[in-house]
Amino acid sequence: MLPDTSKRTRSEFLFERASRLIPGGVNSPARAFGAVGGTPPFMKRGEGAYLFDVDGNRFIDYVGSWGPHLFGHRHPAILQAIEQALIIGTSFGAPTEAEAELAQLVIDMVPSVEMVRMVNSGTEATMSAIRVARGFTGRNGVVKFAGCYHGHVDSLLVAAGSGALTLGCPSSPGVPPGATADTVVLPYNDCESLEVAFQENGDQLAAVILEPVVGNMGCVIPTPEFLSLLRRLCTQHGTVLIFDEVMTGFRVAAGGAQQLFGITPDMTTLGKIIGAGMPVGAYGGRADIMNCVSPVGKVYQAGTLAGNPVAMAAGIAMLNLIRERNPYPRLEQIGEKLAVGFQSAASAAGVDVRINRVGSMLTVFLTSQTVTNLASATTSDTARFARWFHGLLNRGVYLPCSQFEALFVSAVHTDADIDQTIAAAIASFSDCNN
Ligand SMILES: *Cc1c(COP(=O)(O)O)cnc(C)c1O
Repeated sequence: MLPDTSKRTRSEFLFERASRLIPGGVNSPARAFGAVGGTPPFMKRGEGAYLFDVDGNRFIDYVGSWGPHLFGHRHPAILQAIEQALIIGTSFGAPTEAEAELAQLVIDMVPSVEMVRMVNSGTEATMSAIRVARGFTGRNGVVKFAGCYHGHVDSLLVAAGSGALTLGCPSSPGVPPGATADTVVLPYNDCESLEVAFQENGDQLAAVILEPVVGNMGCVIPTPEFLSLLRRLCTQHGTVLIFDEVMTGFRVAAGGAQQLFGITPDMTTLGKIIGAGMPVGAYGGRADIMNCVSPVGKVYQAGTLAGNPVAMAAGIAMLNLIRERNPYPRLEQIGEKLAVGFQSAASAAGVDVRINRVGSMLTVFLTSQTVTNLASATTSDTARFARWFHGLLNRGVYLPCSQFEALFVSAVHTDADIDQTIAAAIASFSDCNN
């Protein structure tokens, strides 16, 4: 007998079934609504700035698949590139022209990248970059910052942000102490503790890795002093400075945060936008460092599907679109409009918020404190955030389902979309007070 779905939404039915088959019903924890409660809508279709779920609801989408959709869903140029690649074949396990074409675009656009290797996810990119930095320096120590998320890499899954933070397990069981014994965790934006760490361990540090604008504890912006101190100390001690630009790459500027702030790291990791919705990651940097990578060097790193032709075609189309359209002035303008609107919506309802924003990446923290690191981010009222989130969802606005994530505006969001979002935000803030 077919289950009776008449009293439940289709999403509820699908979520129940998925939960019996897949841990938590999801293939990535951040999707499960763990922090806000309720059932996640199951999506059927995306179009431009909108998502449509299986129950026929339309949402203005501020998640954008957690970053990739800079030009919204189903951009014609990206679809066409994927269709043309599909006709030729989905994977060869042999070199193709497209790999060098995407590599050239990345090298032209991202200041620190002289050579680049393609992988299949952001996690693979950061895991590989750490290994290469260790191989290059012959050292083991790695500095990361509390609240930064670099994928589910064993050595970096300490005081991690994103889903790990949301679900209250910033350090995961299953990671043996040995895997993190060489990881030093410091507070973000804290110059003093950084100086001390280098004084004590500088000559054993292979790498410092950071999100050069944090997205994964919500949006947190680095101070200029913090970034320039990082650059200076890494140079002094021969430590590899890694900017994890999986989120910020091609998002905050064509050349990422390193271009925006004028600080050039030694290595850069990329993901999300570089694949335009297909699974692509990349790591690159100085040629002397990248020449340590197998087969030219001895640091082993490989991938059966790395440089996949369909994924490369999507990435090439995305980076070409960025170069042709220069979306950043529009993203800045519409990002500011959204931030100003959220601020006035909160003020009207008497709700304390702090909004951090860089271009099209922003977080509304429900706190009265300035948010500069994990400690200040976690002063936010997450219960109130959950109510605000559901108020917006019920009114057709799809935000990331956690206080500790950044939302994204795309180049195809219209002024009318923003106006509708602000109206929903005003109504949802007043719900929170009742
Ligand atoms: C998303 C993200 C990752 C992990 O990328 P996956 O593709 O999910 O493995 C790593 N670093 C940062 C900064 C990210 O935002």
